Parts: sequence; structure tokens; C-alpha cells
Amino acid sequence: MRAEHPRCGVCWQTSNDSRCQHCRREQPAFTAVRSVCTYGGPARDLIHALKYSGVSAVAPLMGEEMAGLLLHWGPGVSAIVPVPMAGSRRRRRGYNQSALLAREIAGLTGVPVAGRALVRRAGPSQVEQPDEAARRANMSHAFAAGRAPVGGCVLLVDDTMTTGATLDACARVLRSAGVDRVYGLTFARESLTTLPNGRLRRDSQAAYNRSQKR
Ligand SMILES: [Zn+2]
Repeated sequence: MRAEHPRCGVCWQTSNDSRCQHCRREQPAFTAVRSVCTYGGPARDLIHALKYSGVSAVAPLMGEEMAGLLLHWGPGVSAIVPVPMAGSRRRRRGYNQSALLAREIAGLTGVPVAGRALVRRAGPSQVEQPDEAARRANMSHAFAAGRAPVGGCVLLVDDTMTTGATLDACARVLRSAGVDRVYGLTFARESLTTLPNGRLRRDSQAAYNRSQKR
């Protein structure tokens, strides 16, 4: 399912404006983010296989799509930084899926991976933070600059973008560590609806809530 609607040039959510209401209100720390596809159907199956079923063999397929998009997009990045994962979770899964995707993209584009530019601090799980404000507050302390800093223009890589809070928090840390511009690339993208109060709601969550009320 390719995303082909008019989109915000920054966060790439569906929007008729070149900069959506959300990005106008709270300027993200990243310059722009792009994704291969919207979250759902086969894209969701691939991500679940990679994240929850330990099927790392799907990473080359996903990385190839992401590398193709990066080459077409051409943001001019000099390093790829995977979104780091909590150590306990990585030990359980055996790998960080973002690092696997970053390695695939690096192999196909020649842009090196800066795997130690960012570290994840121990903290509460994202799953316990369904509310966007809570998630954002939690995320703002979740990352720190790593032992091998990078400069110039970098690409953050993750499997999925939900509200953008993770990418924003990572971009903030990288920029305060001396990076000029941060771009983001994810395999999939959750579709969001901006509520009248300006908050974001995940459409998949709304569908889930509806199904629970039936
Ligand atoms: Zn936006």
C-alpha cells in the first residue's frame, strides 16, 4: 500500500498544506521524514515478522525498498543512524531491527552507518504510553549522544513512524551534539488524524477502539 496522497513536506502525514498544522505548531527537530508505505496489510506483516517473530530474513527486502526511496529522494546525508533500542529488548530479540535496516541501506547506497552516535537510556516501555503527550515526554529523555558522534547531515532509520515523537527526540539529541540537519526514513508510517484540540490520533488505534465497542 503506497502512500500517494498530498502530504506535509516535513512529517509527510496526509495534508493539503506543504507544512501541516502539527508541524506549524511544533516545529520538529528533523528537517523531513519519508516512508516507503503506510502501515497495514503486507507492510504490517513484514514489520511484525521482523519485530515480534524474530524473522530477520525480511530485513534485506525492506532495506532495499528504503534504499530505493533514499536514492530517489536524495537528501544528501553522510551517515545513517539507526534508532537505538533498549539493551534488555535487544538481548531478548537478538538484534535491533533498525540497525539491520540501516545496514541493508548502507550496503546498497554506500552511506556508512554511525551505529554509536546515539544511545538509548533505560526507561518505561513505549507500550505503556498510549497518550501522545505522555509518549513525547517519555521520549524526550529516552536518548543521549553516544561515544562516536557524527556531524554534517544524517539519516535516522527506524521501521515505523507513529507520531514522530521518537524521531523528533533522536533528532534533538543529534542536533545538540553538532549535527547540522537530520532526515528520517522509515519503512512504514501510521496514518494519523489531527483532532480539533491539535493532538494526533493513530487511525489504527481509533479502528481498534471502534472494534472494542462493538
Ligand atoms: Zn507535518
